[in-house]
Amino acid sequence: MENFKHLETIAVQAGYEPQNGQPRVAPIVQSTTYAYDDAQAMADLFDLKASGHFYTRLSNPTVEVLEKKMAALEGGIGAMGTSSGQSATTALVLTLCNSGDHIVSTSTIYGGTTNLLGHSFEKLGIQTTFVDQTASEEEIFAAVRPNTKLIFGEALSNPSVKVLDFEKFARVARRAGVPFAVDNTFPTPFLCRPFDFGANMIVHSTSKYSDGHACALGGMLIDKGDFDFAASDKFPAFNTPDESYHGLVYTKTFGKFAFLAKARSHVMRDFGMMMSPQNAWLTNMNLETLGLRMERHSYNAKLLAEHLSQHPKVEWVNYPSLANSPDRELAKKYLKACSGVMTFGPKGGRAAAEKLMNSLKLAKIVTHVADTRTCVLHPASTTHRQLSDSEQIATGILPELIRISCGIEHIDDIIADFDQALAAL
Ligand SMILES: *Cc1c(COP(=O)(O)O)cnc(C)c1O
Repeated sequence: MENFKHLETIAVQAGYEPQNGQPRVAPIVQSTTYAYDDAQAMADLFDLKASGHFYTRLSNPTVEVLEKKMAALEGGIGAMGTSSGQSATTALVLTLCNSGDHIVSTSTIYGGTTNLLGHSFEKLGIQTTFVDQTASEEEIFAAVRPNTKLIFGEALSNPSVKVLDFEKFARVARRAGVPFAVDNTFPTPFLCRPFDFGANMIVHSTSKYSDGHACALGGMLIDKGDFDFAASDKFPAFNTPDESYHGLVYTKTFGKFAFLAKARSHVMRDFGMMMSPQNAWLTNMNLETLGLRMERHSYNAKLLAEHLSQHPKVEWVNYPSLANSPDRELAKKYLKACSGVMTFGPKGGRAAAEKLMNSLKLAKIVTHVADTRTCVLHPASTTHRQLSDSEQIATGILPELIRISCGIEHIDDIIADFDQALAAL
């Protein structure tokens, strides 16, 4: 396969190259299993001595096309597709951590990830310390313990659209001697390349912009291959025999592919959170236009944010490119553009927010974000409604906060919809 330089070309061409007479579009291989003539060939696959597909829980040709494309887009050495963004983060943690281990994560992350790390893994004996991502390097490093195995953050956070200071967290991870992993769901590789700023691994919810049409759930775990597990004394599972593989040692057999080999042959084998071929096919197709879509999402969102911030019935707008955003400098440094999501508060508190949401016509109320259609959500009455008013404010969810995911419709139609809803207040 050619090594293309530009993301626009990779998004269209990478991952699949038809041979003479084969289908132009990578086909959906909707098969659980693969046939072999020779018993030894199958045995070698099971022993990880040969590569090839044998069961779709472990790998599938359609999922593999998407994995190759996502790895190429991020500049990684390989990737593993998963059933959802949640399972990509789960696979990341389970590949690196055992019960008794510890993670340092920023507190400004997706709510589902906060629950996963702070509650579900906590119950399994893997603890997370959440740090303020605006704290100093020393303050963040103070959270590191001898049993810390991962530093984690979100490139552009959902829903608060805060920009991660990659280089600060990469320095903390290097001092701690552990991998630094980033959730790059919101910027996508078109707007941010975390591997260029010190990340070792990337996770994605491909359910968001990668699919981008709100039609397929999925996740992706991508490795840069530059964390030296063989030289570290913190990861014995990579450097000592795996009894469930006849004593195979991951770093010896797979070199820089040790992380992805363990993720697939251990975590995916045992937990089975694979991506379906159908969802991989849809996501792979939709990735072809990712660059065009991210440009338009970002362009529309910037104009809408500027329009709302000057509107007399709007109290505040939070979008990283705005002149008054505390993240403006970080956004300039790390992002090509600021993607399609923003939050804002109409004047008049929660009642005004609810009335405004009910008056919108083009923008529908949905839990999802990051697809072609403009949509809104009022977290205080939906995703965060179980929390008390004071708990909501503590997590940054003001009663009037509305999250907008700006679509790729014509910006004049989007603005007109918000204007007519604001006029009704
Ligand atoms: C949605 C989301 C996830 C979870 O992804 P699912 O595909 O819904 O499981 C993780 N991280 C971020 C930033 C998200 O927006």
